[in-house]
Amino acid sequence: MVTVKIVKDLLAANAEIALKNRELFKTKHILVINLMSSPGSGNTSLLEATVKAIGNQYRIGVIEGDIEGIADAERLEKLHIPVVQLNTKGACHIDAPMVERGLEELPLDDIDILFIENVGNLVCPAEFDCGEDYKVLVFSVTEGDDKPLKYPLMFHESTAMVINKTDLLPYLDSSLETIKRNSLKSNPKLKIFEVSTKNNYNLDSWLRWLITKLTDKRGRV
Ligand code: MG
Ligand code: ZN
Repeated sequence: MVTVKIVKDLLAANAEIALKNRELFKTKHILVINLMSSPGSGNTSLLEATVKAIGNQYRIGVIEGDIEGIADAERLEKLHIPVVQLNTKGACHIDAPMVERGLEELPLDDIDILFIENVGNLVCPAEFDCGEDYKVLVFSVTEGDDKPLKYPLMFHESTAMVINKTDLLPYLDSSLETIKRNSLKSNPKLKIFEVSTKNNYNLDSWLRWLITKLTDKRGRV
């Protein structure tokens, strides 16, 4: 595993570098998902479940963004996939220059689907284009059904949302219907999946969506 320490703030160059990243992904025929979430929503668990389910048919790589530490990258590396850990050293999101640095450490010719696991934060990750094809939000039912109304940009910028930990709904006041209704207020076109990574419940539609998007992208290049 390679740990890349981000020392410079390169926000000004973001749009330009995002374009460059996107061109590179197109050349390499890689589907790129910018995975955003709150801390503790189970986004790393979703990646683990995804790799276990389709990792033998599709080559998956991960750029793992965290402020500090390598815990998530270590979890994913156990699945024998290429992983780069980005440590943002205080920055609360991943941007395009950080992704560009991470790409130098990845075997791009051997990757079909690349996930950028963003820093856990429902605010600014939505504001930064990293060159991805789609932003996908992982949202845990434990976060409360009012959150889509409090952080609308995150929901607006996402193409799809994976609602996780649905197995916990019986213990919560949160309603799945309210989460969905409030999310669609910010983004009526949001594609919604309801899963539990705890017991691999209902992952199929999420996996089918991913594979369809990969097929679409390959058809376009
Ligand atoms: Mg994580
Ligand atoms: Zn930020």
